[in-house]
Amino acid sequence: CLLVATWSLPSVSAWVPSSRPQNLQPPVMTRGNSNAASRSALFGVARRAANLFRGGGRERTRDELKLGIAGFYDRSSKLWEDVWGEHMHHGFYVPENRTDHVQAQVDLIDQVLAWAKVDSCTKAVDVGCGIGGSSRHLARKYNCQTEGITLSPYQAGRGNELAEEQGLKGKCNFQVADALQMPFQDNSFDVVWSLESGEHMPDKVQFVSELFRVCEPGGRIIIVTWTHRDLDEGESLTKKEDKLLDKINRAYYLPRWCSGKDYVNLLEGFGAKDVQREDWSYIIAPFWKAVIRSSLNLKSIWGLLRSGFSTIRGAYAMLLMLRGYKNGLIKFDLLTCTKPPAVSKHGMPM
Ligand code: SAH
Repeated sequence: CLLVATWSLPSVSAWVPSSRPQNLQPPVMTRGNSNAASRSALFGVARRAANLFRGGGRERTRDELKLGIAGFYDRSSKLWEDVWGEHMHHGFYVPENRTDHVQAQVDLIDQVLAWAKVDSCTKAVDVGCGIGGSSRHLARKYNCQTEGITLSPYQAGRGNELAEEQGLKGKCNFQVADALQMPFQDNSFDVVWSLESGEHMPDKVQFVSELFRVCEPGGRIIIVTWTHRDLDEGESLTKKEDKLLDKINRAYYLPRWCSGKDYVNLLEGFGAKDVQREDWSYIIAPFWKAVIRSSLNLKSIWGLLRSGFSTIRGAYAMLLMLRGYKNGLIKFDLLTCTKPPAVSKHGMPM
């Protein structure tokens, strides 16, 4: 998921009251009392703004999420690309004090591929592709064909533009499509790649089911995603944890979260073979601080202001993410498996 690049730290506490002041009741309006009227209007705006930052409201419907995600990435992708480049995901911080952040993002892709033991690829799908950084990297690395899907028309357009600029036209294709209903035939890809998009999916069963459907038998599925900590049988998140995630959800257009263990159960439920999972939270930990630091310059702040409210809110949510990682609530989970090879009617591999 895109982590908005720009932020001016001192403003955060000024804009986000920790609790709603009790005296924010609009004054009773009387005819001709224009001061009171404008004060009331101002209070109204302030209250609505505070509510937008706060979690705890009703969950967004699927349609609201889809529209929200498309708009969020339409508005913020250019700013991210200007500051951070074509990859909209965490970096691989080994050693932990490295400062070549863009290379750290590329390394994350390579390290995930190595972890999942992908040593060849003919055709990959990049589910939730951003502006296509992973797709182009895969195409160059394996000389493969890629199809990327995103909800954001801006991202799909920019993905195609960059493919052309980088001499990959015809190899990498990007389009607007929903991961929960992919426009691809069954069994189309030998590598199914989802890097930091799963957290946006309001229906994880449908999401995984689609990944399985488009994967060819024997093909590899890779999901790198934000999850919450594993829960014991009957345990649920605490109220405080729920509240933190609610706020992040509002800012990044995310639905309810699940744990890495939930994903493992889902994959196994679909008959996946060789399911593996690893928590890389500690490997990506320095990333957020780097993003926040990168935002403390005039260009970033100006870009942020021009990108509008949802981008500003996204920037504020970086601090919440940092808190979530620190207290062990949020995890950066890697999952991989293979789709079982096709079996004939007589139980023989085909
Ligand atoms: N994987 C990319 C981008 C991560 S940002 C990268 O690492 O650079 C999250 C992406 O998921 C965005 O492109 C967003 O449009 C996409 N996304 C979220 N929900 C989606 C859905 N239902 N269908 C398709 N794409 C989706």
